[in-house]
Amino acid sequence: MTSEQTWQLAALLWTGLALLTFVFLWYWRRPQPYGRHTPAAGFGPLIDNRLGWILQELPSPLCLLLFYLRGEGPKPAASALLVGLWLLHYGNRTLVYPLRTRTTGKRIPVLIVAAAVGFNVVNGALNGHQLGAGDFPPGFFTSARFVVGLGIFALGMGINLWSDEVLLGLRGRGEAGGYQIPRGGLFEYVSCPNYLGEMIEWLGFAVLGGSLAALSFAVWTIANLTPRARDHHRWYQQRFANYPRDRRALVPFLL
Ligand code: NDP
Repeated sequence: MTSEQTWQLAALLWTGLALLTFVFLWYWRRPQPYGRHTPAAGFGPLIDNRLGWILQELPSPLCLLLFYLRGEGPKPAASALLVGLWLLHYGNRTLVYPLRTRTTGKRIPVLIVAAAVGFNVVNGALNGHQLGAGDFPPGFFTSARFVVGLGIFALGMGINLWSDEVLLGLRGRGEAGGYQIPRGGLFEYVSCPNYLGEMIEWLGFAVLGGSLAALSFAVWTIANLTPRARDHHRWYQQRFANYPRDRRALVPFLL
């Protein structure tokens, strides 16, 4: 088996693991233990929430860059663009987003941070390697794949950033505990438009990348966030007697 075939096999197995993870998270029926679902005990030691987010997200852009730069293929503008999109997303997720959360005093299980580090190392490495191979067809920038993929990515990123902004704005400065019912825009239709946006974003990236590595990250994102959206939705319904009845968890009118 060539080195390239080994990378492809790894991406395939990684995608299979995402599907198994989805089944597990969906039927396990216990929310992923961070944020509002952080348990008082039972998941080992906890660390500061902001620090946890920075530590767990940082490996993704670092590994992507490392594997991209050490790739032996050419470095066409198409792969540079995708690297740029990844870094744009993770620049926000690693530094801007954690520092802007109003979660002072909140903590996150080390176990969750460690799992996320592993997750981000593999995704960064697989996608960095793929982009480092520089495997893009001529005429990429005038293709339907480029226009459609970039459009989907931009739409998803816009929804994700806007929704996170609304959620972060629900708390006053220095306030860490209170939750409110989010209102306006897509929040009138679903409880978790930030997750919907994140899924759309990485589906757009998968269209742009046209690789198993990019697809596997989109599948993982859906596998992680669909059960979490369901759990958030139930939590809202139990917590707020006046929670809007027509609102769905993740997909307007459907789910
Ligand atoms: P949440 O929606 O659980 O929380 C986002 C932030 O808003 C947190 O600071 C949270 O505080 C606060 N918040 C949420 N709802 C309310 C509310 N009703 N009232 C007041 N404050 C609120 O998102 P996650 O923490 O799960 O995820 C954060 C980002 O990371 C999202 O954009 C998500 O898409 C992305 N992500 C991507 C994954 C992937 O696989 N690609 C996996 C996980 C996340 P608190 O923490 O105190 O609840």
